[in-house]
Amino acid sequence: METNIVDTDMPISDTNTAATTLEPLLDVTNLKTHFKVREGTVKSVDGVSFKIHKGQTTAVVGESGCGKSITARSIMQLVPKPGKIVAGEILFHRYQDSPPTVVDIHREDPNGSAMRRLRGNDIAMIFQEPMTSFSPVHSLSNQMYETLRNHKKVSRKDALELSINALRRVKMPKPEQIAVSYPHQLSGGMRQRAMIAMALSCEPSLLIADEPTTALDVTTEAQILDLLRELRDRLGMAMMFITHNLGVVAEIAEHVQVMYLGKVVESAPVRQIFYDAKHPYTKSLLMSVPQLNHKVDRLATIQGSVPDPFSIPTGCPFHPRCPDAMPGVCDVKVPQPLQLTPERQVSCHLYGDA
Ligand code: SF4
Repeated sequence: METNIVDTDMPISDTNTAATTLEPLLDVTNLKTHFKVREGTVKSVDGVSFKIHKGQTTAVVGESGCGKSITARSIMQLVPKPGKIVAGEILFHRYQDSPPTVVDIHREDPNGSAMRRLRGNDIAMIFQEPMTSFSPVHSLSNQMYETLRNHKKVSRKDALELSINALRRVKMPKPEQIAVSYPHQLSGGMRQRAMIAMALSCEPSLLIADEPTTALDVTTEAQILDLLRELRDRLGMAMMFITHNLGVVAEIAEHVQVMYLGKVVESAPVRQIFYDAKHPYTKSLLMSVPQLNHKVDRLATIQGSVPDPFSIPTGCPFHPRCPDAMPGVCDVKVPQPLQLTPERQVSCHLYGDA
């Protein structure tokens, strides 16, 4: 996990708890995405359920290898081979249709026209390293033209104007000049702004951001977070924000899901995660973040490491690392999700009847 400093004595910004309309936008139920390889089956996403509401920012946190990115890629039907969605429902509500329609993304052909319409138009994604998404041999306006042409009828001349406006919207300096530049001519922060501009060019209702600020220095990270928050509020879009940086979660999210080994182990509004975490894994993650005003000689760490995907521990998969593990219970029985309140869920025997 990242070690950004979090000031837990300071209230989490009210913008994080801004009232959302609570109309469902994305409804994922029992999603399973597995990778069959010679050594066995890796259950990268193993029965994940969650909802994202219109205009809401949900952060997905956890250590590397816990299934955050594969969950996001499953929603986009962009799971790399040999991965496959083997079960579950991914319902996406299209409010722009009249009357509104619901698409089960899992049932759609990944290469079909419905999925192509959803990607970019309804759901867009930005990545940690924009260079992997941009073509190095085309100018930005050319690449934006391709995105726009797939979803809207625009001429090449209009596309240049739209690209300049899109770059202006993300506060890119000299947008006319940058629009005709190539990705390698830009700094890391400018490339990420350009990536956001391209992702938002069709005004999607859901933006999936997969660690978009991890590769940036802290000043640029703060600027990009401010920009994303401002655009989210202006466009009324929802965000699924994948990160392993709890400092970023405190700044941007309204709801948090904590993932461990392909499962959501705790899900709650951001304030409850920071001030009253329930799951021992969430508590351990929070304890390993440096805090202002709390001087320590050595930061707390989570003992051990994420297990090998081919030898998942029995019972609760976190039990070999858990300071609260109960022998005879936690190493035997798999904890089931327990709904503590309508907005809060935890999977841990400490809160069940085991
Ligand atoms: Fe720890 Fe047991 Fe809860 Fe797992 S179920 S997190 S081992 S207390």
